[in-house]
Amino acid sequence: MKPKMKAAMVLRFGEPLEFRECEIPAPGPGQILVKTEACGVCHTDVHAAKGDWPMKPALPFIPGHEGIGVVVAMGREVTAVKEGDRVGVPWLYSACGHCEHCLSAWEAVCAEAEFGGYTRNGGFAEYILADPGYVAHIPSGLTSTDAAPIICAGITTYKGLKETRAKPGQWVAISGVGGLGHLAIQYAKAMGLLVCAIDVDGGKLTHAKRLGADLVINALEADPVSAVRDGTAGGAHGVVVTAPSLSAFKQGVGMTRKRGTCVLIGLPPGEFPTPLFDVVANCITIRGSFVGSRQDMAEALAFAAEGKVKADIELQPLSAINQVLERLEHGKVASRVVLDFAR
Ligand code: NAD
Ligand code: ZN
Ligand code: ZN
Repeated sequence: MKPKMKAAMVLRFGEPLEFRECEIPAPGPGQILVKTEACGVCHTDVHAAKGDWPMKPALPFIPGHEGIGVVVAMGREVTAVKEGDRVGVPWLYSACGHCEHCLSAWEAVCAEAEFGGYTRNGGFAEYILADPGYVAHIPSGLTSTDAAPIICAGITTYKGLKETRAKPGQWVAISGVGGLGHLAIQYAKAMGLLVCAIDVDGGKLTHAKRLGADLVINALEADPVSAVRDGTAGGAHGVVVTAPSLSAFKQGVGMTRKRGTCVLIGLPPGEFPTPLFDVVANCITIRGSFVGSRQDMAEALAFAAEGKVKADIELQPLSAINQVLERLEHGKVASRVVLDFAR
């Protein structure tokens, strides 16, 4: 009998994940097998399990794209890693490597990209198959549980902040202070930016202040658009919308300064209205941002290894995944839950 592993799988959209004993996959040529030590739980896993997006994963699948572990087996022709290396298996699971986007370090938008925990099985399992060319290389000073949120929440907000083009001393507004946003605040401070944090949860805003936010706004208590414009003398130079809520997107555009950039990161299903005249007449840029390149990954991890950003994590066992997803959907996770496979 082949050796088995525990995994939490989506069998049907919108239903709790089911725990299964599956065969441990064998790495084929050019693949590696990673023994999971930790895996963060992202709000994207909620969207994935509900089938929220137009591009749906094939059922059944194992979610999780913040998996960190040790390389325990390798197929033929693997040179990028060796057995015993500690790696992360991220959302950008693999790409073609030779299209116009791959060649210019925009591999996340490669038409042939595969996504960890979505189009490929992910980290809510004791073992993960991975592409050695696209795994994250975890610095030795960083524990696996601390590294997990960096390989999605960290890289995504670090890249999103860079995409705002805001310069040190300028304002960025970060809408949504959950798993992504609490790291965005720390990256922004490390980059020398002034930070305005917006959320609908008072506890998250208290936390945002502790993390260094210069201004916090509760979007349920004040109109966040005028509050940001007033607090920043004209609007934020850069806005990063991580909130999985459509209303936050319209507000994000409204709080962008003239000639500023609003970066859309959150992925609630649907569309949002854009005030065309204001965007045009104020020369505002609205841009999407999707995780980041492998170089962004190395940079995002370096900030964490140097102690400039640190994810606030709550450890849970894999068996708690359905309660964690439920809490995440309803905004009841303080920052990031990490599944700890050592438990
Ligand atoms: P999370 O649940 O940990 O955090 C979301 C935060 O937004 C919570 O603190 C919540 O209170 C707050 N919020 C909810 N409604 C709000 C509103 N109207 N205004 C302000 N804040 C509000 O989620 P997360 O893991 O940080 O993920 C956030 C979103 O980002 C998800 O939609 C996820 O799919 C998406 N995401 C995108 C990328 C990308 O590459 N673009 C990468 C990772 C995650
Ligand atoms: Zn994610
Ligand atoms: Zn490509």
